Amino acid sequence: MFRSQALRFVVLGLAVAIVVPTTGWSQVKSTTAVRDYSSRNYLLHTDLPADEAQELLKRLETMLTIVSRYWNARSSRVIEMYVVKDLANWPPGSIDPQAMASIENRAGITLSTTQFVRDTRGNERITAAHSVVYAIADGGVPQHEAVHAFCHQSFGRTGPVWYAEGMAELGQYWRDKQSDVEIHDYVLEYLQQTDPKPLAEIVDPDQRTGDSWQNYAWRWALCHLLNYNPNYQPRFRPLGLSLLSGKGASFEQTYGDLAPEIAFEYRFFLEHLTNGYRCDLAAWDWKTKCVQLRKGASVQAKIDARKGWQPTRLRAQEGTTYSWTTTGTWKTSEAGELSANGNEQGEGKLVGILFDDYRLSDVFELGESGEWTATSEGDLHVRCRDDWGRLGDNTGTVTVRWTLAK
Ligand SMILES: [Zn+2]
Repeated sequence: MFRSQALRFVVLGLAVAIVVPTTGWSQVKSTTAVRDYSSRNYLLHTDLPADEAQELLKRLETMLTIVSRYWNARSSRVIEMYVVKDLANWPPGSIDPQAMASIENRAGITLSTTQFVRDTRGNERITAAHSVVYAIADGGVPQHEAVHAFCHQSFGRTGPVWYAEGMAELGQYWRDKQSDVEIHDYVLEYLQQTDPKPLAEIVDPDQRTGDSWQNYAWRWALCHLLNYNPNYQPRFRPLGLSLLSGKGASFEQTYGDLAPEIAFEYRFFLEHLTNGYRCDLAAWDWKTKCVQLRKGASVQAKIDARKGWQPTRLRAQEGTTYSWTTTGTWKTSEAGELSANGNEQGEGKLVGILFDDYRLSDVFELGESGEWTATSEGDLHVRCRDDWGRLGDNTGTVTVRWTLAK
């Protein structure tokens, strides 16, 4: 959550009276004193034990390295954070009253101020931005809030709610050079068990910050998909930078021409969501064209065991029977090479699905070779059957060739 105040022509820091812990505090029974810790980019006030405080600073620094690289920006000043383990350890008045409700709800808030100047033409320019983070020491809350503080202090803005909160959620899970889904179990279960929230609702400009963790989960899902799926990734970072610099870009303008594709992949992502899911490997191939087969003709495609559904180049006609053959082997785990028949558990088997007008048929089994009659029309896609959360360790390719059955 974030709250931003625009201050015109005046510099105003937040009036926070932090009571510096004195020796007197350490004598209070069974409480941990609030202490200050600092690192390159942070000033941390916390009642966490020293080792946990240092550990948190280390995680926050790592995250900052990743977000700085991502947005190609630096935090213009140290990020000041109040991280609360137990409110009872904090002297009265040490927490900003505006932040109290968030801390009591075991959440977090970033209080930000922005200073503008107006030039002779009346245009406003941000000249300074300052954020102070208040966060409970649970889960990824401090990291989430630190992303807001970083954006605010670097750009003077955090973007519209869907972007600000989606990216802050992404930030709390960010691990260097890893793109698989790795989210809290309760968030995962909620997203797995709930009908997808329509995209238009997620990016609605009337969305409010701090509304509910459920809404945060949808914002995370959208940002994760756009950030890791190569079909949408190239436009996502420029969109974000434009939102952060107040240049008036929008989700609709940026992705409007890809709306059906994004809606399809968003539904698909949520339907198969699991920890370990890789948007880069599961991305839909929108470029390869599928064609109807004439007598004597064939189509062929190399199918990668690591990827999700891949086009065979065959546009199947309802009621038509086709034959297929395969060459090559693949692996779905350390255990040996498998043909397209897979193993006894059905893992590694070649399976198919029909895509037509952004809708998918049920999955059907294929295998090494045989004949198959299409029950409806559609582009035939196939893959090496494996858990969607464990495609990353697969290796090998199988070439699949299709002809009309004699
Ligand atoms: Zn937030």
